[in-house]
Amino acid sequence: MLNRIFGLETEYGLLVHQDRPDHSPTWFAHKIRDHLFNVRRQGVLDVHHRGHDEPPGNGGFLTNAGRVYLDMGHLEYASPECHSLTDVIAADRAGDTILQDTIEDLGFADQVSLIKNNVDHETDATFGSHENYLVSRRFPFTRRGLAPLVTFLVTRQIFTGSGRVGSAGPQDAWIQRDRLIVPRMSIGGGRLDPAAPFQISQRADHIVNDFFEWVQQNRAIVNTRDEPLADPNQYRRIHLLLGDSNMAEYAAALKMGTTGLILQLIEEGHIPDDLEIDEPVEALQEISQDQDRQWIVQLRSGKTMSAIDVQEQFVEAARQHCRGQDEETDWVIDQWSGVLQDLRGEYANLVGRVDWASKLWLLESFREAEKVDWTDPILKSLDLEYHNLNAGKGLYFGLLDEGRVTRVTTDKAIELAAAHPPRNTRAYGRGELVRHLLRNAPPSHESDSGQEERFFPPYVINWSIFQVRGQSPFPMPDPFKTYVQEVHAHLEGA
Ligand code: ATP
Ligand code: MG
Ligand code: MG
Repeated sequence: MLNRIFGLETEYGLLVHQDRPDHSPTWFAHKIRDHLFNVRRQGVLDVHHRGHDEPPGNGGFLTNAGRVYLDMGHLEYASPECHSLTDVIAADRAGDTILQDTIEDLGFADQVSLIKNNVDHETDATFGSHENYLVSRRFPFTRRGLAPLVTFLVTRQIFTGSGRVGSAGPQDAWIQRDRLIVPRMSIGGGRLDPAAPFQISQRADHIVNDFFEWVQQNRAIVNTRDEPLADPNQYRRIHLLLGDSNMAEYAAALKMGTTGLILQLIEEGHIPDDLEIDEPVEALQEISQDQDRQWIVQLRSGKTMSAIDVQEQFVEAARQHCRGQDEETDWVIDQWSGVLQDLRGEYANLVGRVDWASKLWLLESFREAEKVDWTDPILKSLDLEYHNLNAGKGLYFGLLDEGRVTRVTTDKAIELAAAHPPRNTRAYGRGELVRHLLRNAPPSHESDSGQEERFFPPYVINWSIFQVRGQSPFPMPDPFKTYVQEVHAHLEGA
């Protein structure tokens, strides 16, 4: 799509099976990372600098130029920079297969499950799926300029949400609201149900602010930390934390495609700007928890509207201003309209395209067959199993096998994307660097001496710059350039 770089970060849950109480999820996460880099040699452990520095060897870049690392004990995969939707979806699914294959290779498949979701039902913890979009530096990154984006993000969950059983415990809302400590029940005028049987979004309950800089404590609809990971004079990176991880490729593609178009409409001054939502955080949660799926929002203007109607206005603006610019744009606009149309009817029509609909349909079928009500704890287990990346067990894969899932990529493309970066962004140049370092690395061993072995590789790799010891730094400020020839020349000059 036009002038866009996409990146998707996924934090995975690790569900340890009951017969392995001796090992924590974090223990497994370390084992998986070490096996991936040291034995499978799918990338190189690195020194990496982010806002907060990671310890050396905490993670590394892969031959596909994406990155695997540990974040607060969680395994995370960050896709390489992608220029198209097809690439980012394949790259994201590649992360799933890289980690699932590593687990199987270790012989751990019966001991631990890799779960691509965002909530831990037992501890009420949440973990993220971060979307990254490159925009121009001229993007109006102000409260006013971002208001239409917020409206879009609050309402897009009707097709991007992955659904969950129940709601976050009250503590999460209590502790994390920075202004007042208020019980959940009173948020949003008392319309929220602390025991909602099912809601359409995994993350909505855990978002407590509209704009905020930090990722961990005060999760916001739009993260305002200014870290472009590119030339800061030209670019900005929009970093979103509110989305759910998608199992459905179709939902993931629609999520990133529609959001990319909204950013374009804002950049070009064509976004409808009379749709500002009165209380966006509350609206996010109300929509998610609305058991009648009316999805009504209150606008600043005093009007009320359904989320579907709000989205219709956005799709109409995209149709007017973006249609015809390229094939992916047209695909997004057509599918977006189609899904909104379908959302007006029976949710079961969206099975296989929209995750919450697939999940709800599975749960309702189970409830009917087994005569259980929403309080039965087995429903939370099934909720998790929907996201299990073990294809022999995961419920999403069951739907896939039955031919109910709409795909937007292929197994072949995913396999390619697991080993190779996109060839039209700087990921290409970084991938060459990683291959070079792997060729020159001493044969490695699996370290059994505990995870915190001191490790200082002779290079530093970041998204927009790398340096090999003894050489000058190699900046890659433009994510649209491949830098391939330059990287080769630089490494050969060594
Ligand atoms: P955190 O994990 O704390 O949120 P982060 O998002 O800054 O930190 P990473 O986890 O390393 O950092 O992930 C960066 C993501 O951004 C990757 O998916 C990468 O492909 C993508 N990305 C890198 N550069 C750009 C860019 N200039 N514009 C958009 N996306 C980018
Ligand atoms: Mg990250
Ligand atoms: Mg991030």
